[in-house]
Amino acid sequence: MYIRYEVADRIATITLNRPEAANAQNHELLEELDAAWMRAADDADVSVIVLRAEGKHFSAGHDLKGSGAWPDKITLDMIYSVESRRYLEYSLRWRNVPKPSIAAVQGRCISGGLLLCWPCDLIIAAEDALFSDPVVLMGIGGVEYHGHTWELGPRKAKEILFTGRPVTAQEAEQVGMVNKVVARAELDTETQALAAQIAQMPAFGLRQAKRAVNQTLDVQGFYAAIQSVFDIHQTGHGNALSHTGLPVLMRLDEMKQNLR
Ligand code: ZN
Repeated sequence: MYIRYEVADRIATITLNRPEAANAQNHELLEELDAAWMRAADDADVSVIVLRAEGKHFSAGHDLKGSGAWPDKITLDMIYSVESRRYLEYSLRWRNVPKPSIAAVQGRCISGGLLLCWPCDLIIAAEDALFSDPVVLMGIGGVEYHGHTWELGPRKAKEILFTGRPVTAQEAEQVGMVNKVVARAELDTETQALAAQIAQMPAFGLRQAKRAVNQTLDVQGFYAAIQSVFDIHQTGHGNALSHTGLPVLMRLDEMKQNLR
């Protein structure tokens, strides 16, 4: 089991529980995570959803060498099918769950990690949180779910994509990507306190407030942009396949060398 699920006082707490691998996301973890989100969405006793992570880091991203991640011969239609389900539909579905959600983020949140926290309505970050998406090093223009421009604004989005450097918790708060920065030791208590406060509000009012904001973003083009940038992302995989036969131009171990 890679996911822990608890309900108390109208708050469902979903915990990424693969700390030995910095909560890297293999397929099983994502399936369990999606099931936990849907369980919280369907449970009439749940008013607020908290997403947190066990260990030093929130998530190291997709587990590129995870169990049976890719077969020997990879084609673009295989990549497209897997990614459209797990890295696009899931994130959009979590974003649209009609209950408020809060992500609590500490340590590294790399690439695929953003696909877990960005769909949440609110984000509380520990002081040591670092958000990054260095996939340009792999020959791809950003991770599958293009929250970057919406979350950071266009210039900051380009800067972090062009350089691969992480955004600190403080910087993320300045641009409005996170709601609050707290001491690492206070992350869980601060998040639960905020969830408890929100859980006191009328459920239908919360649902409509969330829908109002999400609908405004969708009218501004969020949904259409997310869909079309997913396809831009796929041209990165297609280009890498045509050069190397692999889904990315540079392997993860080489990429980590580059980032040191
Ligand atoms: Zn991809």
